[in-house]
Amino acid sequence: MTNPLFYILIALTLTTATISLIFLMVWWFLGRKPYAISWSLGFLAATVQWSCNLLATSFPNFESYWLTVNGLALILIVLGLIGHRQRTRRGPPGRWVWLAAGAVFGAIAWATLVDPHVGMRTALVPIAAAVSLFLSARIVLVHRAKPRPAEYAAAVMMLILGATQLVAGVIAGMQGAAGDEAWQSLYLYVNFLTLPAGYSGLAMFVILMLASDLLEQMKEVAIRDQLTNLLNRRGFIEHGKLAFASARRSNRQLSVIMTDIDRFKQVNDEFGHAVGDAALRHFAEVLRSARRAEDILARVGGEEFALVLPGTTIEDAIRIADDLCSRVERTAFRVNGRRQPLTASFGVAGLSRNDEELADMFLRADRALYRSKRDGRNRVDLESSQFVKTANGRLEPAAGSG
Ligand code: GH3
Ligand code: MG
Ligand code: MG
Repeated sequence: MTNPLFYILIALTLTTATISLIFLMVWWFLGRKPYAISWSLGFLAATVQWSCNLLATSFPNFESYWLTVNGLALILIVLGLIGHRQRTRRGPPGRWVWLAAGAVFGAIAWATLVDPHVGMRTALVPIAAAVSLFLSARIVLVHRAKPRPAEYAAAVMMLILGATQLVAGVIAGMQGAAGDEAWQSLYLYVNFLTLPAGYSGLAMFVILMLASDLLEQMKEVAIRDQLTNLLNRRGFIEHGKLAFASARRSNRQLSVIMTDIDRFKQVNDEFGHAVGDAALRHFAEVLRSARRAEDILARVGGEEFALVLPGTTIEDAIRIADDLCSRVERTAFRVNGRRQPLTASFGVAGLSRNDEELADMFLRADRALYRSKRDGRNRVDLESSQFVKTANGRLEPAAGSG
């Protein structure tokens, strides 16, 4: 009977070819992400590598065969790591990874051509694979504060495969310089028997991770306003609800600012819809420039925007709105190089004891906004029935409210 390793090599060739094709399809159908192409090319290199193993006897000599298969294996290792970097924009830069792989290849060439060392020339690729898998797991786990379940699963798979590659590498090294038949056959079985499952498991979990990326992207699109890239109304409600619940739970302050561009219809009528859109983007940019990390800023309607300010008293919220109001007036909006006046009106509301949900505050801020429109625009107002001004100018809750 033919050596059983022959059949394992066929299995490895088919497995890596299938995975390469799957990543190519992932690239083609799921957003043309560069990392999917990196992984597809990496597994293509592995497919060629395993076919070369099958055709070992067709090579002119052992050295050319050995350097070809090890070089191809290193290409898979490098592209795998680079793919994770492309996906998360983290990890060592591609240049360093290629340099490290070049150094490993140099060492393998040395141990093959110059000073033959069976253990070293066999051990280096599995050890490099282990290092690359451990690094990939790290990249996947650290790139966001709370990794998603699919990321944990992919990282665990990388750690398992990395560990088996490390064991295979150590066993390979035990062959020593001259080579030892017992260690060599143990290495071949450990390596080749774990790889098909390792490759498939890894690819599946990575694809699961890509699918969850896509889901996240779709969720993000659903709560974003296309024009300004701020949260839309749905996103505002989603995030605002959490901020409201958190303020209630921890007994913290919370304020809401509503704002609406003044006489915006005139901008559209006079200059057209495209300039109107540019004015909206300009206005969003001014609001964004004043937003603090915790604040929730959203475009809640045509030219209506809202801010939720966690941990902010009504007095501070009024100051912030005043500042925004003058910032909008000051910041030039240009049409065909000419400065075009643009102002907005603001309504502010603070959390009151009777508020049951964010919508209650929203309603008061909206009423305040209406008042500031009615009283001449380009100003800030709050629902005065809710607060009274004390002698020293401070705002205090009126009787019956917060
Ligand atoms: P006021 O000072 O009372 O707010 O006056 P206004 O002209 O701003 O009044 P209103 O709120 O009724 O007008 C809103 C206008 O905003 C009407 C609508 O055509 C325009 N608008 C809504 N969404 C968009 C958009 O996405 N792009 C553009 N260019 N215009 C929009
Ligand atoms: Mg308006
Ligand atoms: Mg409006």
